[in-house]
Amino acid sequence: MSALLLPSHLEAVLASGQRLREAGYRGRFAPSPTGPLHRGNLRTALLSWLEARWQGGEWLLRLDDLDVPRNRAGAEAAIQADLLWLGLNWDGQLLRQSDSRGLYATLLSALRRAGHLYPCRCSRRLLADISAPHGAQAVYPGLCRQQQPQWGWQQGRLPSWRLRLPPGPIHWQEHFGEPGRLDGQTAVGDVVLRRADGVVAYHLATALDELIHGITDVVRGDDLWSSTGPQVAVMALLRLPPPRYGHLPLWRSASGQRLSKREGAEGLAAYRERGMDAAAVVGELAASLALVPAGSRLSAGELLAAIKPGNLAAAIQTARMGINSGP
Ligand code: GLU
Repeated sequence: MSALLLPSHLEAVLASGQRLREAGYRGRFAPSPTGPLHRGNLRTALLSWLEARWQGGEWLLRLDDLDVPRNRAGAEAAIQADLLWLGLNWDGQLLRQSDSRGLYATLLSALRRAGHLYPCRCSRRLLADISAPHGAQAVYPGLCRQQQPQWGWQQGRLPSWRLRLPPGPIHWQEHFGEPGRLDGQTAVGDVVLRRADGVVAYHLATALDELIHGITDVVRGDDLWSSTGPQVAVMALLRLPPPRYGHLPLWRSASGQRLSKREGAEGLAAYRERGMDAAAVVGELAASLALVPAGSRLSAGELLAAIKPGNLAAAIQTARMGINSGP
């Protein structure tokens, strides 16, 4: 492995991201334009917006649109319209990961040159066959790690590019819970940073985006908690500290059960069909974490004025312990 040398334009955007971070709180909401926002996304957006506004900070909207076949026509416009309807205004220009493809490619080339990546030709089928059934997210067993690197086409296919993850624990700060800690080797493994079809992987793009946009605080769902490990690992290779993370509990029904697929997928259209306006929806999203009484009607701005940051942390703790009742 050799020293990681970055081209000057990448160094410059990273330095400007660091300066932005030093200037104060910067949060972001980063949906994928694969369809309308569902109720979990809407609640995450609301809480992430509240945190940023409480801190007098900035709140950015970024669309994670790199996986083009999964993008849906109209989703980008629908996401923006839904956020504005709820009164969640973002700062600055809408950001799209597709606009940063050149930077991701530059970072991938630098990581590859420095020996931090290796090509992998394991098929999904093979990995599924060798992973334990019903196990948690499978850690790549490192089959291609020691092979002589062959980056070109073989049998009509290119390899995926995997991170050669250094051993040791990965740590990060958690705003609403215990500090994050994952063991690199046993819990994270050599994740894919560029897929065999050439698409830049979510972990690489997200890690670089948090840095270049100067994000100080990421508020997102608990389903992405374990994604934090690989993202922090990429930032560590760049010798930059990660943001603080605030992972939010997933939405549960009143009895504490996970929502059905249909309930979970409901978005603003379903609320509107029930005759709810923005004030009723904000009330319902906030009541689902017992931040306000059920049936409350208030705008996002009124919610901001009505509760304090400490209330949110306490409500989240309660929801985690399963005592909270959803609507
Ligand atoms: N785009 C990802 C998603 O919608 C979330 C990214 C993130 O917040 O890190 O699941």
